Amino acid sequence: MTQISLISEQWIPVRDRKGVVRKISPLEILDEEIVDIAAERADFQTALWQFLIGLIQTTLAPEDEDAWFDIWEEGLEKADLAKAFSKVGPAFIFGPQSPSFMQDFDQLEGEAVPLAALLPESPGENTIKHNKDFFIKRGEKRFCPHCAAMALFSLQLNAPSGGQGYRTGLRGGGPLTTLIELHSYKGDRNVPLWRKLWANVMPEFESNLPVPKEFDAAVFPWMGKTRTSKAKGSETTPEQVNPLQAYWGMPRRVRIDFEDLEEGRCDFCGEESDQLLSKMKVQNYGINYSGWVHPLTPYRCKLKTPGELNSVKLQPGGLVWKDWLGLNEETTRKDTKEIPALVVETFKHHIGTETKHGLWGFGYDFDNMKVRCWYEHHLPQLLSKEMQSSLQVAQDKAARTLLGLKRAFSKLNRECSYLDVEFWNLTQNLFLGLIRELDEKNSDSESLSAFIKNINRFALIFFDDRTFSSQMNPKDYKECSEARKNLLASLYAKSRSTPKEAK
Ligand SMILES: [Zn+2]
Repeated sequence: MTQISLISEQWIPVRDRKGVVRKISPLEILDEEIVDIAAERADFQTALWQFLIGLIQTTLAPEDEDAWFDIWEEGLEKADLAKAFSKVGPAFIFGPQSPSFMQDFDQLEGEAVPLAALLPESPGENTIKHNKDFFIKRGEKRFCPHCAAMALFSLQLNAPSGGQGYRTGLRGGGPLTTLIELHSYKGDRNVPLWRKLWANVMPEFESNLPVPKEFDAAVFPWMGKTRTSKAKGSETTPEQVNPLQAYWGMPRRVRIDFEDLEEGRCDFCGEESDQLLSKMKVQNYGINYSGWVHPLTPYRCKLKTPGELNSVKLQPGGLVWKDWLGLNEETTRKDTKEIPALVVETFKHHIGTETKHGLWGFGYDFDNMKVRCWYEHHLPQLLSKEMQSSLQVAQDKAARTLLGLKRAFSKLNRECSYLDVEFWNLTQNLFLGLIRELDEKNSDSESLSAFIKNINRFALIFFDDRTFSSQMNPKDYKECSEARKNLLASLYAKSRSTPKEAK
């Protein structure tokens, strides 16, 4: 295959205002008609968002808030964009010669493996060896060069642990990413793509990520020999390279086979190509990232060890509304501090009344190296301090209600492991209603009291539905009634922080 430039090649599928999908190059993103990226898979889609945000952040970050606003108001100049992107041109070549985007600088030893192993749902090497891939077909998928670049970037972003020396992504395997999501701008719901991207680009001053003078392997690790990680103490920290590498982490050593080409249809975008790719070589002990805080990911730490930040990862069931506050605002819960993504923190200060927006959170849930699920959530951005403290009270109350329910069910020896996810999901609408009311009204305490009443009512109905029935024997009936009485008492007990006291 001859090489392509991921700057000038039309490889990014997008949708315009009329709903027409086509592929563009990064040089065309300023077109006001284009409103969204339109990749075939959710992981490719979100990888492309992070690709374009990273590309702009790395080459065009505004100096300070004023400069950020100038672009927000006036837009970017096409010539400025082209000039900035041309500086990183050599790093975005994708093809057989080194350096090649997101691939090891050196030729790799070892056997060829299917390129489809880039995808997290592919069976691992061991599964194939032992013929256990009866249900998940072994990797016979063929990629056009565009989809191969997307899959490769997505793997480098999300990589789970993959066996000895196969490193996880820079933020750990399967991190949660949160982006600012613009719903409308000055009443127009068809917000151009470039504006949605710009909402996630931070000024140099606030992000502490200056645009580099040189774009070398410190920023784009595939531009030089890989900092391998077999030896002890060979981790790569932000101090050893450029902190912008956060956007361009390359934990896995991969070389795509660009020689063995086939003709036909790409199994992902469906386009005809005579350059279909299907094999690669991989090697372990790629870059082992340590001590990084990614600007697009929320973190957590124990209060006892404030220096040890862990990226937030998705759990079975995905995000529920009790997670929302911590993704919006630094929050302390019991012994844990929740720290929102830097991009969320930063945009709060830039926000105007002319936009409607929220947060978009997404990521894989991995069980070790096995993928369990892909999650995507659209949540509100909770802005005012007053609103946040009211929501905190609501959340605490709901958590106590859940505890009461759990106690009531376990008294009856009922299975209640499902309760956590179900409770938060079933009460989400009550919470959204509260947010709406707080947004419109001034009387917080009235809205909060109503919310608490509704949560209590929900808990009782939930309990009754799952315990009482018309064919109960007297003994069960008595036990359930007793548990219900206790639940009732716990729901209406005078708690330590009633809404009034919390003010
Ligand atoms: Zn394709």
